[in-house]
Parts: sequence; structure tokens; C-alpha cells
Amino acid sequence: MRGGARWTIGSGASISILNEPWLTNGEFISSDVPGAHFLHNFTINILMNLYDKSWNEQVVRQVFSVDIASKILHTPLISQVEEDRIVWKGERHGHYSVRSAYRLCVTELIDSSYLWHPGYWSGIWNLKVPPKVKNLLWRMCRGCLPTHVRLLDKGVVCPTTCASCDSSHEDLSHVFFECPFTIQVWHTTGLWGSVQHALSQTASTTEAIFYLLENLAVELSQRLSTVMWSIWKHRNLRVWDNVTETSDVVVERARNMVTDWQLANAPNILAVVSPPPPGTAANVGTSAHDHHAGSLWQPPMPGRYKCNVDTAFSSHHNRTGIGVCVRDSEGTFVLAKTFTYPCIVSVDVGEALVLHSALQWLSDMQLENVDFETDSKLIVDAFRSDRTDLSEFACIISSCRSLFHNLFSNSRVEFVRRQANGVAHTLAREVTRSAVYYDIPACIKPIIINEML
Ligand SMILES: [Zn+2]
Repeated sequence: MRGGARWTIGSGASISILNEPWLTNGEFISSDVPGAHFLHNFTINILMNLYDKSWNEQVVRQVFSVDIASKILHTPLISQVEEDRIVWKGERHGHYSVRSAYRLCVTELIDSSYLWHPGYWSGIWNLKVPPKVKNLLWRMCRGCLPTHVRLLDKGVVCPTTCASCDSSHEDLSHVFFECPFTIQVWHTTGLWGSVQHALSQTASTTEAIFYLLENLAVELSQRLSTVMWSIWKHRNLRVWDNVTETSDVVVERARNMVTDWQLANAPNILAVVSPPPPGTAANVGTSAHDHHAGSLWQPPMPGRYKCNVDTAFSSHHNRTGIGVCVRDSEGTFVLAKTFTYPCIVSVDVGEALVLHSALQWLSDMQLENVDFETDSKLIVDAFRSDRTDLSEFACIISSCRSLFHNLFSNSRVEFVRRQANGVAHTLAREVTRSAVYYDIPACIKPIIINEML
């Protein structure tokens, strides 16, 4: 049995460093290697950073020769794999008991359902305002904004008084809707009537914000959201720099922000008209013979999002890059994310990881009605089938299914031709760090503009 077996690495606590097939392709470290006598009683978890399940490169390089260290660092550690298990290396699915792997993933499914917060989240992501405003609204609605009351709840000892008035309870609803200073701001903007109505129709600050975003016209939502940003700015200036502003200054800052934003985005509209320079990535998929169905990126139907995902491998940097990009039905950029994985995984595992990472991230961002697109047929087929097994690949795919069925309504996972997946491909290839983008990353700007045409 041993000859055909390899370990899938969960915690690593039950896998001895020596003489066990835990390296890529089931290779093992022999007890003949120099210094092996120090390692006899140790398991591979001592070589790992447990907080993010990665190899502790420093330790690995100190303990082993260059070639063994390199083999270890090239062995993927996958966080979706929770148990150390022996599987057959001959077959990708490593069959033993289908049931136990499935149970593992169902457990994750139950745990993750708390992540979903109801609300009109697309109202935030579709606002025509600078990214920092969307980000503020998102943090407000997720309850992450560090008001004094929230800090106290988190165990930070601080006074809970409002910076603008005598109130002793500076929470979200006070800062944005109840403080006399804020009310004055709303009066000046002409939105106080709408705000009052929203508050009377809803039970919480968050619900009131969603209600407003859902019911106000585009121009008024723009004003509402930038004013909220300006109110928070005012509050921070007061708390941190002891600066006092009048309500007129707060309103004026919001107004300027809208004007600047419109000006800054006007050149983009012109840029759409002129074609990108020849030889840029944007030209991929647009040459005459490529115009058959499926080879061009298509925007989603109105009211939906499209999320393209892709993986790229850099053996030089021993790194797997992941790119995720979300656009709306007009092809307008909404959000993007890059992620680097500090080792080279197999193509299948890489493509599965990117789908998983996209699902997890967009559920956190509270997007629904999403068409996920990958250029891996294998992933789409595996995702749609209900078969499962003990391999790393199957663990990730099962975990994807759980996330998807619990957190996404009215969404789907589709196969798309490579030419139509250029944005995600470029992001994954160019990625040098993990980051979230609220503005279009420069490397994909020509492609996005081209695909809006
Ligand atoms: Zn106040």
C-alpha cells in the first residue's frame, strides 16, 4: 500500500518528517540525509506557520539542504484540507471514503452561513462615487466603523462621548443621523426629509442606509453617500486633530468631491472612443477571425455582475497568482482582487483555489446575482457534478459548492473561452502582491475599456 500512497497535508501533526510520502508526487525525505537523527521524533507541523498554513521558509532552509528545502517549499499547503490523510497518488481522486470528505465540507457549509448579511449591497457597489466613499459605506453597513461605542464593545477603553455635541453615546446612528450637528448638515443638503422618512421606515442605521440607496435617484444617492463620507471626515478631524468645522464646510467638501469625481471620470469616457494602442493586451480577442461566439467577453444581463477568475504560475518566484475582477452589465469596473499563493500548485488545484477565493471574497462583499466565469472546463464540470473524493482538488471544489449554495442566490458558475477571460488572466499574471482594488488597476485598464465598446 505504501508504494502507491501519499499524504494530503492537513495540520501536519500526524505526519513524520522522515520516511513519509508527504512531498509533491509522494516523494519522501530519507533518514539517510545529513542531520536526520535530529528529526526522528518530529512531525512536519514544526516546519509550518500555523496561523496561515504556509511553510516557515526560514526554518526549512536552516534545517535542510538546498534541494530538499526547495522540494518542501514547492509542496503546496492548502487551507481547505483539514486532516492529514493517506491517499492513492495514482488517481487524482485518491478514493477511500467519499462520505467523510463530504461531511467535512458540510460542516464548513453550516459555519459559513453567518457570513451573509441581508441588505441592498449592490446599491453601494453601483454608486457613482470615489472608491473610498463606497468603502466607508461598506464598513458602516458591516458594523466595522470604529465609533467610540464600537471601540468600547471591542474592549478599547475610551470615552464614548460625541466629538460634536454633549451626547455620551457616539454610535453609528448618532454620528450619521442623530447628532444635532449632523442634522444641520442634512438640512443644508436638502436630504433631511428623505433621511427622516428612511429612519421611520426601518429598524437600524444600516437598514436606513439601504432603504435610502434603494429609493433615492442616482444624483441624490451620490450626494447622500459623499455627505456621509464628509461627516465621518469631520468627526475624525475633530477627534484626532481637534479641528472644528461648520456644517457648511462639511457639505461643501461633499459637493466638491462629486464635482472632482465627475471631472476625473470624463477623460475615461473619451478614452473609450479611441482604440487602445496596437500590441497591448486589450487587442487579445478582437482580431477579425476571433469574432465567433464565446471568444469575446460579454457583459452580464442588467442587474447582474460578472466575475472573471484566473490563475497564473510563476515557477521563477515559486508563486501562484490569482486574479478576480467584477464588472456590471455595462462592463463598468466594480471591484478586483489579486492574491498570491506562496508555492506552485497543480493547474487544477490553482483554478479551484481561485474560484474558492472569489466566492469567499464576494460573499464577504455581499454581492449576489453573480455570473462567475473561469476558462477551466475541468473546474466547471467538477463544480456541477456532485461527485467528491479525498483529493485536495475535491476538498476545495466541495468547499466551493458549500459556499456557493449557502451564500449566493441567483448566481452561476460558467465556462468561458480563454480569450474572453483576459482581464482575470492579466491580473493573475501581473500580480505581485495580494490586494483589493476599488479603482481599475492600471494593468487591466485597456482591456476593460476595450470590452466596454
Ligand atoms: Zn453628537
